[in-house]
Amino acid sequence: MTDAGKKKAVGLPLPLMQGLHGEFYGHCAAGRLSFQRCSDCGRWRHVPREICPACSSWNWSWEQSSGRGTVYTYTIAERPMHPAFAERCPYAVVVVEMEEGVRLLSRVVDCPPSELEIGAAVKVDFEDVGSTAAGKVLLPVFRRG
Ligand SMILES: [Zn+2]
Repeated sequence: MTDAGKKKAVGLPLPLMQGLHGEFYGHCAAGRLSFQRCSDCGRWRHVPREICPACSSWNWSWEQSSGRGTVYTYTIAERPMHPAFAERCPYAVVVVEMEEGVRLLSRVVDCPPSELEIGAAVKVDFEDVGSTAAGKVLLPVFRRG
C-alpha cells in the first residue's frame, strides 16, 4: 500500500465529561440510563440543565429510565459529518421518545436504515466508544424490542 492509500485512523468524537453532561454519561458508564426529574412537578427532562422548563424549579434528582421507548423520527446520514463516521455511512440518526416523555438522539444498532419505522419499540443498550481522562465512555444506543 502506498502512503497515499493509507487512511489515518480518526477516533470518534467523545462527549465532554464535565458538569451535568459528565454526570449523565457517568450513569451510562455504570450501565444506567438516567434522566433528571423535577422534584416539584415530577417532569422528566433531557438534555441536562439546571432548571425545570415546566415549573422553573431548581430542585431535581437523577432517576433511572425504564430504558424503553419508540422511534419518534429519524434521518439517514449518507455522507459523514466527521471522518470517524465515514465507514458507518449510510446510517440512521434516530430520535427516540422514552416512556418518561423525553427524547434522545441515538442509533438503533440492530436495524438497518431501510427497516426503521416511526413508532417502532426499542430498548436501550450501551456502546463502549472509548475513554477520556474521566474514564470509560458508553453511549446509549437502542435495539428493537
Ligand atoms: Zn418542575
